[in-house]
Amino acid sequence: MIPLAFAHKKTFAVFGLARSGLAAARALNTAGAKVFLGDDNKARLAEAASQGFLVRDLINDFPRDVECLILSPGVPLTHPKPHPVVLTAQSAGARIVGDTDLFAQAIGDMRGTDCGPVIIAITGTNGKSTTTALIGHVAQDLGRPTAVGGNIGRAVFDLPVLGSDGVYSIEMSSYQIDLSPSFAADVACLLNITPDHLDRHGTIENYAAVKGELLSRALPDATLVVGVDTIWSREIANQLRVAGRKVIGVSVVDHLPGGIYVDRGMLIDDRLGNQQVIADLQLFPRMPGLHNAQNLCVAYAALGAIGFGSADIIASFIRFAGLAHRLEFVGERNGVRLINDSKATNADATQNALLSFDRIHWIAGGVAKDGGIESLAPFLSRVKHTYLVGQSAEMFAATLNSAGADFDHCGTIDSALAAALSNAVPGDVILLSPAAASQDQFKDFEARGDHFRALVKAVAP
Ligand code: ADP
Repeated sequence: MIPLAFAHKKTFAVFGLARSGLAAARALNTAGAKVFLGDDNKARLAEAASQGFLVRDLINDFPRDVECLILSPGVPLTHPKPHPVVLTAQSAGARIVGDTDLFAQAIGDMRGTDCGPVIIAITGTNGKSTTTALIGHVAQDLGRPTAVGGNIGRAVFDLPVLGSDGVYSIEMSSYQIDLSPSFAADVACLLNITPDHLDRHGTIENYAAVKGELLSRALPDATLVVGVDTIWSREIANQLRVAGRKVIGVSVVDHLPGGIYVDRGMLIDDRLGNQQVIADLQLFPRMPGLHNAQNLCVAYAALGAIGFGSADIIASFIRFAGLAHRLEFVGERNGVRLINDSKATNADATQNALLSFDRIHWIAGGVAKDGGIESLAPFLSRVKHTYLVGQSAEMFAATLNSAGADFDHCGTIDSALAAALSNAVPGDVILLSPAAASQDQFKDFEARGDHFRALVKAVAP
């Protein structure tokens, strides 16, 4: 378990008892700290008590000796308004941080003894999980002890202790950054910034500032990798450069002198000013699309910063299978490729999918977001036929009708797949990219994608 020597004999509170909160509480207890646990959910509190934790009504009865409250990133710190426990902790004079902040302090202490592992931290509006997993894959594949965690689904305090050659690849959401004032990464990556989560951050300015802080808080000699194709991230790169920080820019839309970029399907490294051609992106069919090119370029820069050579990184990229539910290749039948993009729960994500292929048989629908698929009208020329499923069928049909696109009402993914298989010819792609949430027919997007994958495996083993 990650050691928290600095917590010995101190008193903490943990609010929000999902996996990451409980893992942090365990690490604190192991370090000899006193820890009070709280949650709005009575069942979770009772469960924690039954596991031997000290539970408390932290909102009405906040222990005076608590120095630090560990807040779950799901609990509002500032917007739309602070959770009552935040106000209580503030008036008691307690610091408020997240589990990721404690983790970074612990790794910082190991670094102080010169035998610490490195932290590569990854943020951005889109592509975080893919890039975090890709970096973890390469580091492990090339022989370094590696652990992947953070927002990607494994709590940082569930990760193993790594030695001096270890690599932690840590995905950081904006909520986690907000709660990690002392998170000093060895390499910090920012993929892109587009408006998102404004309910929790107030304005785009505030949201972008939070993302930027992951980079400005990195170690003084850290390498900072920044995708400069969105205005907000480009501005952050400029500010960091002015502040004298070591920044590597990444672009997939423009030549970027001194940076890493994509030109006519080639990954180019111009850090030495020699426009070195590193790889043809066609080498990575499991990472289709320009958005994935951005993820590859950022990972390439981050991995280079911790000492891996270009040829090794590229060889290992080829061995990366991709992440489940994100343009995941799930089978091929009679020359027709089948792709599971169930994670695409809105039109923006599906836009990436439509741009990644042509000759598409598109399975779409579920619980629509505002605006439905109207923004996808310009990309429908890549779609041969659409198979509508779920609750949004009428709304999506109206958009397809006005665009003059061909479609059928299929109801379920099962019927949609059967219809698509009977229409598709060799070279076509059958793409589940719903542009809608899944809850009308499935528990979550994972269950939807798992169902699709199982159907495909039955017909295209
Ligand atoms: P995140 O962890 O940031 O939510 P993921 O890696 O899980 O991102 O990818 C989620 C979806 O976001 C993908 O299915 C894809 O549609 C889109 N996406 C992935 N990478 C990028 C990127 N670099 N830029 C824009 N969109 C992306």
